[in-house]
Amino acid sequence: MSTYTNVHRLPQSIVAAVTNDPYVGGGYISTTKLIDSPRIRQLTAINRDRITTDVSERVWTLLGQAVHTILERAGLKDGSALVEERLYATICGWTVSGQFDVLSVADRKLSDFKVTTTFKQHGSDSWTQQLNVLRWLANQNGHTVDTLEIVAIYRDWRKTEAQRNPDYPQAAIGVIPVPVWSLEDTVEFVTQRVLLHREAAEGVEVHCSDAERWYSGDTWAIIKPGGKQALKVLETVPNAADVPDGYEMQLRKGEYKRCAHYCDVSAFCSQWADTQAQQEEG
Ligand code: SF4
Repeated sequence: MSTYTNVHRLPQSIVAAVTNDPYVGGGYISTTKLIDSPRIRQLTAINRDRITTDVSERVWTLLGQAVHTILERAGLKDGSALVEERLYATICGWTVSGQFDVLSVADRKLSDFKVTTTFKQHGSDSWTQQLNVLRWLANQNGHTVDTLEIVAIYRDWRKTEAQRNPDYPQAAIGVIPVPVWSLEDTVEFVTQRVLLHREAAEGVEVHCSDAERWYSGDTWAIIKPGGKQALKVLETVPNAADVPDGYEMQLRKGEYKRCAHYCDVSAFCSQWADTQAQQEEG
């Protein structure tokens, strides 16, 4: 079990709510873990007793779990929908488990609720992966699903921005359609992920990908010498035409944001230690 700190002296009610996490993973590997980094899962398993997390870092997870209360109040358990059911299926000798929020039986639609930011108003690769794995699990358990969607609750939504910008979410809650893969492609994806996790569990060193490390990528700022405010920031090396007279281009090295700020096992990770050593040298 990881240890919790309370650096910001938050009320005991919050501490208790975070530490009494009702999440029950079940199965050999959950959908969330399956689509995430095998290295993080392995380092977490090895260092479970040494991981320290501050309760303040779990507040969005806590709010995400409040969806459970919303669905209970909605009273959908009248036969028209299945609510918060955990499903299991076995592949390559491993049991994969996943819990969906709502499966509308009549319209064959699976909905997942997320407390998120407006930055993700068009969805994300990890949501697409997660929901397609849930669709595969539903299929393995006798349910047909044709449509996938995220019901997004935007924790940073601002009414003034919605009035100013038509491309911004127009309400604090919205539905995001999720691309549906073929079941064959999903089986291939799940198989590859299980094999990767199995390798890591067997002691093979599996590195995190740039995507798993939330690497921001290098950028080039077009800026006046000594200036602070960039005229523009490009994601590819600028051409001469991109740099007006009196300006210069400045390389801004990308950041491994998860390693640097959000990974619970970064203190035990040689890949991150190597990156930091290279950054200090370079
Ligand atoms: S510190 Fe970075 S590389 Fe290491 S496990 Fe965490 S995300 Fe992966």
